[in-house]
Amino acid sequence: MYTVNDYCRDLFGEKLYKIALNGGMTCPNRDGSLGTGGCIFCSEGGSGDFAPPGDMDIDRQIDEAKKRISGKYHGSRYIAYFQAYTNTYAPVSRLEPLFTHVISRQDTAVLAIATRPDCLGNDMLDLLCRLSRIKPVWVELGLQTIHKRTSDYIRRGYELDIYDKAVKDLISAGIHVITHVILGLPGESSDDMLETVKYVIAQYEKHAIRFPQPNRTAAGGIKLQLLHVLEGTDLADDYRNGLFEVLSLEEYTEIVCRCIKIIPNNTVIHRITGDGPKRLLIAPLWSADKKNVLNTLNKAIRNGNTQNQ
Ligand code: SF4
Repeated sequence: MYTVNDYCRDLFGEKLYKIALNGGMTCPNRDGSLGTGGCIFCSEGGSGDFAPPGDMDIDRQIDEAKKRISGKYHGSRYIAYFQAYTNTYAPVSRLEPLFTHVISRQDTAVLAIATRPDCLGNDMLDLLCRLSRIKPVWVELGLQTIHKRTSDYIRRGYELDIYDKAVKDLISAGIHVITHVILGLPGESSDDMLETVKYVIAQYEKHAIRFPQPNRTAAGGIKLQLLHVLEGTDLADDYRNGLFEVLSLEEYTEIVCRCIKIIPNNTVIHRITGDGPKRLLIAPLWSADKKNVLNTLNKAIRNGNTQNQ
């Protein structure tokens, strides 16, 4: 299991802390271009509930975050992570000065950008390529699932071949691609979830071979995220109406262990769970105890708990 901390130590000689930023973006799935309701699980904060308000000056966002974590992190460099909404969904003329400013700061080691694969036109890819010549750029794609019935249900708003193309384009541009996968989506079996993870790995292997990168920054990564039901989402309505159940900690642990068993060591595991904001979290409530969740997962992974594999 090759974790993001291992990856950062290989690249930078130290573990890096991530600072969540808000560039004041929106999302085509919310502003009416594709839809207005957003993905069914997405909170009002655009899946960036830990990021500061979007109208706050970006240097202030970074400096305040640094102060907040100064008690637990003593390194000098950070991952500047544009998390909320769709961070390539704005004109290059607006994004270039913003991203260039952030990546050029001395304390930025990596520029990380969360986005949708259907918001990566050629002008944006050119920008990312230019930025990656300054410092490593990571782009996180919200795939969540490869299964059409689920992607329709969650209103993801793009087809799988759009994701495939984005992976190919980003890898060819020397960008480290991170795919965000949600475990526990309604109607999916653990085998369905495993299929999604296998698919992601296959895409990385296919395109990394076609576009071999001497630099390890081109390796692919994956984030495994537990499905959270958050207040104010349409998913919450379905949950309250009894249309689906959330995973138990035991079920989630077993699925994560199965995923980890098939993720090769050249794929960086950026996350094995995720913590929804407690003030919005409806279910599963066990996920609010992040320390216990991580301890349980890490213990099971160490013990090689891969039942049913
Ligand atoms: S693409 Fe991201 S920001 Fe947009 S609605 Fe879906 S989860 Fe939310």
